[in-house]
Amino acid sequence: MPYQIPYLELGTDDVSLHKVVEACQGQFVKGSVVQEFEKAFSSVIRSGHCITTGSGTDALFIALKSLNIQPGDEVLTPALSWISSAETISLCHAKPVFVDVDEDTYTIDAKKIEAKITSKTKAIIAVHLYGHAADVVALKKICDQHKLFLIEDCAQAHLTTINQQVVGTLGDAGAFSFYPTKNLGAWGDAGCVVTNNSVLAEKMRRFGNHGALQKEDHTMEGMNSRMDSLQAAVLLQRLPNLESLNEKRLENAAYYTRQLQGIQEIVLPKVKESTTHTFHIYAIRAQNRDALKAYLADQGIQTLIHYSKALPFLTPYKHLLVNEHDYPVSSVLQDELLSLPIHPAIKQDQMEYICNHIRKFFQRSPFK
Ligand SMILES: *Cc1c(COP(=O)(O)O)cnc(C)c1O
Repeated sequence: MPYQIPYLELGTDDVSLHKVVEACQGQFVKGSVVQEFEKAFSSVIRSGHCITTGSGTDALFIALKSLNIQPGDEVLTPALSWISSAETISLCHAKPVFVDVDEDTYTIDAKKIEAKITSKTKAIIAVHLYGHAADVVALKKICDQHKLFLIEDCAQAHLTTINQQVVGTLGDAGAFSFYPTKNLGAWGDAGCVVTNNSVLAEKMRRFGNHGALQKEDHTMEGMNSRMDSLQAAVLLQRLPNLESLNEKRLENAAYYTRQLQGIQEIVLPKVKESTTHTFHIYAIRAQNRDALKAYLADQGIQTLIHYSKALPFLTPYKHLLVNEHDYPVSSVLQDELLSLPIHPAIKQDQMEYICNHIRKFFQRSPFK
């Protein structure tokens, strides 16, 4: 076998352990290096406030709680996403209401939202899935009209823009994850929540730190969700490279799109006008996806599926009693999407090998 091409390449590290330990200055939770990262990240994404958290999931939960999402409330969220964008709603004892996704961008379909709004609806979570921006312009209009909060899940979309504005800064709050495999990754779990609203910022900062800004200044109950200094020091070293790493992903995506163009059996990712894509994931669509995945695996090419079950069909949401007709787009996507390796370290000859084999598969394939 000429190659073993892993989906992820996390090996060679750009970060110096010595520098990381030095930056912590003996403080391991919060501390000045965490503040420094918060400042640096706010400045890069041009947001008023950045509050670091223990994870991206916590960032979503802290945003929802601080926007006062209550038991019995309903929050709209896309049917195709990672479970965090639904389970954090349930953690508030509110109800996730799934909305199908758009066929071109795979993000929440703004045209299908109005039908799901009730008197209990309080917020919409927009997930910028794979690195493509959700249609925030349309979503904001709906939120303004119905007085709903807009929370952006930017876990897959560090530096994605809409009309030159960075995602996370467009709604009431934006949640980021720095899980190791994200476009900006730490050495463990880490996240942050951003906002331009200073009242909300203070509430979120308190909530993630036991309701206190300083020791024992508890004005409310909260939780322990803080970024440790080691992660902040790693992220501070990596942040200056984020733009060039994203550019490498874009180049890789452009290469795939050029090489795979014209294969009738697959659908390639689209990028909508006035938005940029940061290609956390490069997913193609193919009707005989599982056979293609198995064939590629035999050639040493690892691919993944994001996600093989849309959220409404997962066990924890069985009680909703929905079926495929309720989510026609997500139902098809869960059977057709296939994520190709796109990490910045992949080499052009590896991508060429992958494209050649995809082409070969469809030339020999008996299913069409
Ligand atoms: C990764 C991810 C999260 C959660 O982030 P964690 O840091 O792993 O908790 C939330 N939403 C989406 C869309 C994600 O991809």
